[in-house]
Amino acid sequence: MIEDELVKRFADADVLITPEALEFLKGLDNPLDFAIKVLEEGKKRSVFAIEKSLIEELVESKEEAKIPLPVEVKRTPDFKPLAKEWAPELKLIDKTDVTGKSSCKGKVEDFVACFKDRLARTRKIIEARGGNGIVSSKALSGMMSGRDIQIAGLVNSKRQTKKNDLLIEVEDEEGIVKVWVGKGRNEKERACYESASRLLLDEVVAVRGRWNPPFLIAEEIVWPDVPIQTAKTIEKPVAVAFISDLHVGSKLFLEKQFGFFIQWLNGGVGGQSEKELAGRVKYIVIAGDVVDGIGIYPKQEKELIVRDIFEQYRLCGRFLEAIPDYIEIIVAPGNHDAVRRAEPQPQLSGEIADSLGKLGNLHLIGNPSMVEIEGLKTLVYHGTSLDSVIAALPDMSYARPEKPMVELIKRRNLSPLFGENQIVPEPKDYMVIEDIPDIVHMGHVHKNGYEKYRGVVLINSGTWQSRTEFQVKQGHIPSPCILPIYDLHRGEISVVNFEGTTEAPHTSGGFL
Ligand code: FE
Ligand code: ZN
Repeated sequence: MIEDELVKRFADADVLITPEALEFLKGLDNPLDFAIKVLEEGKKRSVFAIEKSLIEELVESKEEAKIPLPVEVKRTPDFKPLAKEWAPELKLIDKTDVTGKSSCKGKVEDFVACFKDRLARTRKIIEARGGNGIVSSKALSGMMSGRDIQIAGLVNSKRQTKKNDLLIEVEDEEGIVKVWVGKGRNEKERACYESASRLLLDEVVAVRGRWNPPFLIAEEIVWPDVPIQTAKTIEKPVAVAFISDLHVGSKLFLEKQFGFFIQWLNGGVGGQSEKELAGRVKYIVIAGDVVDGIGIYPKQEKELIVRDIFEQYRLCGRFLEAIPDYIEIIVAPGNHDAVRRAEPQPQLSGEIADSLGKLGNLHLIGNPSMVEIEGLKTLVYHGTSLDSVIAALPDMSYARPEKPMVELIKRRNLSPLFGENQIVPEPKDYMVIEDIPDIVHMGHVHKNGYEKYRGVVLINSGTWQSRTEFQVKQGHIPSPCILPIYDLHRGEISVVNFEGTTEAPHTSGGFL
């Protein structure tokens, strides 16, 4: 088949090829693509026939052109990775990924449609929790005072009255309900006030209370949340490595440490227990900012070592290609990547995706997206909205990224605050967390954090970039080169620290 195709190509171009050269060409990775190069070069040199030596020369020059990795990745003969013995079970959940489905034109109607979808789907989640039925805002107009009811809607506004009570507007499809939250005359009221002060604008909640026109006197704020469950484990002895925010192309990308991580995956770093752990890694999930990008912030050029976006991805691809091929690699974009800046972001595509390399074990997904790894629903989100949650709630900080992650899960929305984080108002709100995840992976804040929240495993995988000038100004201390690995069989996180002594990384466990 391939041979016929190749022969035809050379015949069409009126160029002869020796049988020996044809045989050699056939054995290459991409013979048809390479034939184009061979033909071009043959014409340039106006040779009578293509000889094997010409193709060999071209193959060598192609390899030379490849960017060298900062560490040499060697195959270690005594490395017997367990994960290699098992076939992968990976499913991309298409309905959670905007790729190829973006239909937003940026009109007012788009925002309305997006909000309506957010409201309808989140209300369903709240309703599934049971309790009183939800009354629509319209039904309140004829209702007698004193009834206990529950409403649900988007938080439109939140303000403090002169007496320090809270006045909240909650909007559903039919209107706005004014909710009054008294400031602590008894313990129950204090608890309600406490939760109401944590409300974020544009999130969907239910409020239980007493109808006292024109106000609903709040007694309880009900978040959609997730039910309490036990974390799932599987029979297969495999694990997932989580990474994000590589920022390849930045001067501060820690290429040497990242190279050691790759070497570690190949069984070439550390002792027996290191190799045992490395050998369990069957999946690598990358939650965005794989490159530093171009023109992401003012004067970025100064911070770049690679100033061509395709080159940045090509360099990243060189690292990915050195990962053992029995490991499935899942890549979502982040705010530094070469897709639209606003979320939901589609997967890397076209020439950018090609630059990463056409690896058989590489899976590109949108941001956010859910994938099923060995049956475990894994929600991958870059985490851009963490900035707005950290800013909005007083007890949040960049030092503990797992805390704002909990807030997002509780709200069943990855980006509740509209306007704070650039959102494309698609007719479906892709930021709604419809299915309950088993694992949630984010990055963006360059700081590792882990938590098990009601049985959902939350991981922020930090970064592979050292502290930027911006982070110095912000007083933010990142945690680079700390690799979390979640063992799906044991239900445990181990952490490998590649930051310091890269020859013998420090491994520790017991993070959940
Ligand atoms: Fe980043
Ligand atoms: Zn980011």
